[in-house]
Amino acid sequence: MSLLPPDPPHGHPLGRIALVGAGPGAADLLTTRALNRLREADVVFHDRLVSPEVLALTPARKVDVGKAVGANHWPQPRINCVVIAAALSGLRVVRLKSGDPSVFGRACEEIAAARLAGVPVEIVPGITAASAAAAALTRPLTERGQTERLVLATATCRPGETADLAGSFRPGTTLALYMAMHRLPAVEAELLATGAPETCTVEIVQQAGTAAERILTTVLRGMAAAAADMTNPAILLIRWPGPLARKGARPSGSHVAAASSLLIL
Ligand code: SAH
Repeated sequence: MSLLPPDPPHGHPLGRIALVGAGPGAADLLTTRALNRLREADVVFHDRLVSPEVLALTPARKVDVGKAVGANHWPQPRINCVVIAAALSGLRVVRLKSGDPSVFGRACEEIAAARLAGVPVEIVPGITAASAAAAALTRPLTERGQTERLVLATATCRPGETADLAGSFRPGTTLALYMAMHRLPAVEAELLATGAPETCTVEIVQQAGTAAERILTTVLRGMAAAAADMTNPAILLIRWPGPLARKGARPSGSHVAAASSLLIL
């Protein structure tokens, strides 16, 4: 069975691709631009984590490229191929990804494939899981004088490689950890080995931004055991208050010059 209709319904010589952020799940957390792209799309290729609530907003044909098809999952090159083929046939294509497409979304491979094929491509940002978790907790990701460095990191890496969490965790950091639930004991051990206090606050938010949201607040030592019944999708916010917190308030105005950074590892 062909995945694509034979003729472009709108007669465009060349379609286009929008990599759209679906946000954490709630339809009212989509951007207006994302909603517009979904409404005008001819076909939407979406990931497994995209919620039915968001998918219901588009009249387009929907193809789940995150799900097992027969015995085979969709490997990235195959996704690239069908997305490009749809655009080359003149369709307005939305590639719908959970959260923000530019955060652990493999967007660069899809952008490179589109550029190679000469197809116009854009990113429409979405609310990433870390931001949705902060909203769920009603607690900011960064707190002045406590954590002024926000690191978005994945606990999962390519086969044969190890995630360098130690290199990204130090005093003054909020570590937002994606794709970590399957290796919590290793993450706990690795972070303790950096010298992080055992009492660092750990907030785990499961299905942030959806009706099924669950929150666990615990500390670093013992977090894996405490989170035994939490499941993916979930994100960890691990906070190591910084030297500024221990030294007390900075002189007035110094925050403008203070080093603040957002690292994506
Ligand atoms: N592009 C996505 C991240 C994709 S990686 C974003 O910006 O959010 C997939 C990981 O994201 C999951 O393993 C989980 O750690 C996190 N995640 C995605 N949706 C989530 C949600 N609703 N609540 C908590 N974590 C979520």
